[in-house]
Amino acid sequence: MYRTHTCGELRIEDLNNTITLAGWVQTIRKFGSITFIDLRDRYGITQLLFNELLNSKLDETPIGREYVIQVKGKVIERTNKNPKLPTGDIEIEVTDFAIMNVADTPPFTIEDNTDGGDELRMKYRYLDLRRPVLRRNLELRYKVNRSVRNYLDTQGFWDIETPFLIKSTPEGARDFVVPSRMNEGQFYALPQSPQTFKQLLMISGYDRYYQVVKCFRDEDLRADRQPEFTQIDCEMSFVEQEDILRIFEGLFKHVFNDVKGVNIDYAFPRMTWDDAMWNYGNDKPDIRFEMKLNNLKARNKYSDNSPLANDRIDFKVFSEAESIIAISVPGSAEYTRKQIDELTEWVKRPQIGMSGLVYIKCNADGTYKSSIDKFLNEEQQKQVATFCNTNNGDLILILAGTEARTRKAMSELRLEMGNRLGLRNPDDYKPLWVIDFPLFEYIDEDNTWAAKHHPFTSPKPEHIGWMDDRAKYRDILANAYDIVLNGTEIGGGSIRIYQRDLQEKMFAALGLNKEEAQEKFGFLLGAFEYGAPPHGGIAFGFDRLCALLGGQETIRDFIAFPKNNAGRDVMLDAPSAIDEKQLNELKLKVAL
Ligand code: ASP
Repeated sequence: MYRTHTCGELRIEDLNNTITLAGWVQTIRKFGSITFIDLRDRYGITQLLFNELLNSKLDETPIGREYVIQVKGKVIERTNKNPKLPTGDIEIEVTDFAIMNVADTPPFTIEDNTDGGDELRMKYRYLDLRRPVLRRNLELRYKVNRSVRNYLDTQGFWDIETPFLIKSTPEGARDFVVPSRMNEGQFYALPQSPQTFKQLLMISGYDRYYQVVKCFRDEDLRADRQPEFTQIDCEMSFVEQEDILRIFEGLFKHVFNDVKGVNIDYAFPRMTWDDAMWNYGNDKPDIRFEMKLNNLKARNKYSDNSPLANDRIDFKVFSEAESIIAISVPGSAEYTRKQIDELTEWVKRPQIGMSGLVYIKCNADGTYKSSIDKFLNEEQQKQVATFCNTNNGDLILILAGTEARTRKAMSELRLEMGNRLGLRNPDDYKPLWVIDFPLFEYIDEDNTWAAKHHPFTSPKPEHIGWMDDRAKYRDILANAYDIVLNGTEIGGGSIRIYQRDLQEKMFAALGLNKEEAQEKFGFLLGAFEYGAPPHGGIAFGFDRLCALLGGQETIRDFIAFPKNNAGRDVMLDAPSAIDEKQLNELKLKVAL
């Protein structure tokens, strides 16, 4: 028997028992004639004590960090207890030991705060995964997975696998492709999601489907994306948007409670896409804090009653701007010149791209002070403050410029101010639904319309008539929804189109002619002819959900073997060239 217990198991109740442990050597500390070793496995750490007798044996057979050893010994009470370790009350007085395997000195320390940089950790991922912090992340991932499955099981969902070697499913990214040896010159695409399969399963009558499934998207790896990632993918028949929101709100409440002990006993707020964009500047608002965007100048109702809406002041930056947006930062009127200058530099950084920042200090004594006192008298400053619902003691920050850029910049500035004021506590879970997305998105560069979600999303029934009128595309709303947690989109879905003619209209709107639609999606259009039920679904980003529940920003350390920012697995050194023979078999030539 290799071991009687794990390294995380023994407690004071086990005193005087004779036990056997096996694991990895975390640290070795010699004190004269005695030696302490911390022994580690997946379950924890136990301190071993090698007394004088065994110390000499240790001298003959030295042990190094990360050696795999087995020890026999007696559980004794520690004189120097360590309250931070679950096993901290005891140690093992070793009576015998054996080295099961030696180890080279690891290239970085196997500790939570390691000295290894990212690339090195990725190269030796199997060592990195020994670090307790990663072990905890993967444990959390497993628990979330289990919790999701348990809930979906109680709701009657079946886990049904769908293939990886398929034909393209459009989710807005490039496909990864796989050449087929048996079908010369032809390629499979790896699924960007199981979208069309889950819809086909509904047509087959399977009613409630889910899968915790890999998806593959060949996109430039912007911050914290992975070319292969995991989705919790779900679909249901005979449902309306309301049914989906209810079932999956239930899923989140269950998982938060099960995994984090967090009880959310209220209905998740719902916000229209339009409100999210105008009040928060993006479609994934962080509602842990207020500081909403105030549209002082805009082309719609959001700037009704604004004192600056009609260019009433003679300040070029404002009068020439398409959009003026303000936030009111609580309790920050006392910002110093230096702090304001620093914020101004912050908004001028290329990632934010603004040319300046205007402020109005709403002092505690009710007076005002602005960087544009010359153009905006105290009365006007007060009007702005009233429009922004500002309190005395707050600092109003104002950006002006073109609409999209100003809105994006202000949404970033809002989050930055939230960070600076400590308003974004990762343990505070504030989910919400964003609903009423537009069906289409206009692509400026090529004067076309793209699907905002994907081409299978249904327009709101009352807008179906507008599908025949291009001038109306901008106003068509979709039966689509996203779930957002603390400023991150963690899932999205839609009620689907299930009639052939509407689906054909949708493809046509997206610029696919009949033949192209038939060639790419004939299987789905055909299936719609054989009794397709009304259906809808949703998919969640499993990696990101885990990272959020783990209180961390990056998904990489919640994936056992992730890729780096260039899409490489530096441990395997993949992707890599393939040899001539393989290329010949596939009838491929590399044109490099
Ligand atoms: N397939 C969609 C996605 O990956 C989700 C859905 O509509 O169910 O975003």
